Amino acid sequence: MASTAETEKTAKKKSPLVHTVTVGGVTIGGPEFTVIAGPCSIESKSQFLETALSVKKSGASLLRGGIWKLRTNPKAFQGLGSEALGLVHEVLNETGMSLVSEITDPRQVETLVDQVSMFQVGARNMHNYALLKELGQTRVPVMLKRNFSATIEEWIKAAEYISAGGNDKIILCERGIRTFETATRFTFDINAVVFAKARTSYPVLVDPSHAVGIREFVPKLVLASAAAGADGVIVEVHPRPEEALSDGQQSLTLNDFKEMMTQLEAILGALNRPLNKLT
Ligand code: PEP
Ligand code: MN
Repeated sequence: MASTAETEKTAKKKSPLVHTVTVGGVTIGGPEFTVIAGPCSIESKSQFLETALSVKKSGASLLRGGIWKLRTNPKAFQGLGSEALGLVHEVLNETGMSLVSEITDPRQVETLVDQVSMFQVGARNMHNYALLKELGQTRVPVMLKRNFSATIEEWIKAAEYISAGGNDKIILCERGIRTFETATRFTFDINAVVFAKARTSYPVLVDPSHAVGIREFVPKLVLASAAAGADGVIVEVHPRPEEALSDGQQSLTLNDFKEMMTQLEAILGALNRPLNKLT
């Protein structure tokens, strides 16, 4: 395992010169704080549209939503897959929002490239170098989640698989790691956020929904992420979390999200940081 000094060396060497990445007209990594919100999985047009309209009104500037899902249990809902593409197109048109969605297989690039403004590489695929190389051939922004067992060094090196292909539009995302603790779903590694911000030039986002896995704790971790200097957050929101086909236990209701945004604006005000708005 790399020492602290070695990781710092890797971080410096591997960092590209770019400091900001623009996603659907929203610049991430500048002074503004960005909020990406939406359901874990896209389940139907009405669920996706209702969520999109509401999070937009509350201040989210980008929409999330899983089309293909990587589930631990192969019998669990795997996402609507290509069946979702038509409704996704309609919802993006009707709301004027841009989509961040997970790519789970290099063969999906061609299908997703016209739908997403940023590819999400999920924690389970951080080590999928064939996928990372394929994304390096595109010029679409990539949000690279940290695998829950990866060191910061391994996470930064994974990013290098993307930039080696010429795509330097990379954003890192801390989403919690495995520790001995089981009370929360994962352990939010806030050290990684401040380290990656200080020692690399990639923008850094936080996914508090997966990090903690418990709805009531998500808003406080969003506020902590802003205070720690993250460039933004990606948060799961569902109009009826108890009916969600994935991750309902950690999804905020539309109203929870609205209240969280009010608190976030107060914290950002104190930090003298504007919220990224949809233009
Ligand atoms: C998700 O964003 O819904 C997801 C599956 O995240 P992760 O890859 O971090 O587990
Ligand atoms: Mn999820």
